Amino acid sequence: MSVQFRSSSALIITLVLLCTVLFIIGLAVASAGMVAAKPQGSGDPVPAGDIEKPGEAGIEEGMAGELDGVDSGDRVPPVITGNGVAVLTLHEVAHGHNDYRYVVAPDVLERMIVTAREAGYVFISLYEFHAYMDGKAGVPDRAVLLTFDDGYRGVYENGHNIFVRHQCPAVMFPVTKWYSKHPRPEWARPHLTAEESKAMIGSGLWGFGGHSHDGHRTVVTGPKGQQGFFSTERMWLGQGRIESEGEYRARLWSDIELMTLELSRLGVEPRDFAAPYGKINGTLDKLLADAGYDFVYIGGTERNYPGQRKIYRVDAGDTVESFMETLDILWGKKAGQLTPAA
Ligand SMILES: [Zn+2]
Repeated sequence: MSVQFRSSSALIITLVLLCTVLFIIGLAVASAGMVAAKPQGSGDPVPAGDIEKPGEAGIEEGMAGELDGVDSGDRVPPVITGNGVAVLTLHEVAHGHNDYRYVVAPDVLERMIVTAREAGYVFISLYEFHAYMDGKAGVPDRAVLLTFDDGYRGVYENGHNIFVRHQCPAVMFPVTKWYSKHPRPEWARPHLTAEESKAMIGSGLWGFGGHSHDGHRTVVTGPKGQQGFFSTERMWLGQGRIESEGEYRARLWSDIELMTLELSRLGVEPRDFAAPYGKINGTLDKLLADAGYDFVYIGGTERNYPGQRKIYRVDAGDTVESFMETLDILWGKKAGQLTPAA
């Protein structure tokens, strides 16, 4: 440096300034290094409990896939494992079968859970089902999703304690209009209250979806009083006129919105819709998709795999024998006829 300093104080000031500049440059370099060292995509926590490690039973190498947002590092990449999910349908849990065929007795329900587990079947939660169907996590080798339709109170009064005792997850699809105490034109068994539903959800075992608001009935579809399903057919409006396509769509949309509103009051952000009577058409499917329902449950006799939107459900029957036979047929351990859920 050939600069002439007029005084020692000028020299000191210059040295202090130089040191400050060097210190700031040093800080900048160090923090850039830390950013570069941060693992990629570490923002998304991965539900570790849902992912089997390679080498465990039931791994299908061909279904291996990598999760989003997982650092590769020296860890083994997670593997999406599973052989599909069997989705079974039940309705009511009550003592006595006389008045309604879709009733399972409490002791039968308990033996269904215990016997299936002893045979190697694993009941999964709605959360685990979603993660699998979204391609984000695996499921056990013989995964079963147990669903209940209609939202009957007996499931809470006679069944919920069994699910808690066995820490068994399940899914409920209530008809949301039936949360109201007001008289209904159609026949139905006593329905869950909002408080009972919240207690079920609060246990951490139950997932909830929708089964329509007012769509669990028929409507008049012709001048002679012909009947058709609420959600899939246009209504007869009288005076020689049937609903226009626009009127039909508007009726469905308001039903979907009311269902979603009722479920949101329970703290549920629904992604699942169980079609009443298993009936669906293109218009209903499109509106449901627009409203955020990613999975539409219909009758079917197959297991379910990631990427599907339509979810096939099988009627589980009302005995331990029918329940086990349904599972064994679905998993190819036994030949026989299955009944699609209605
Ligand atoms: Zn139903």
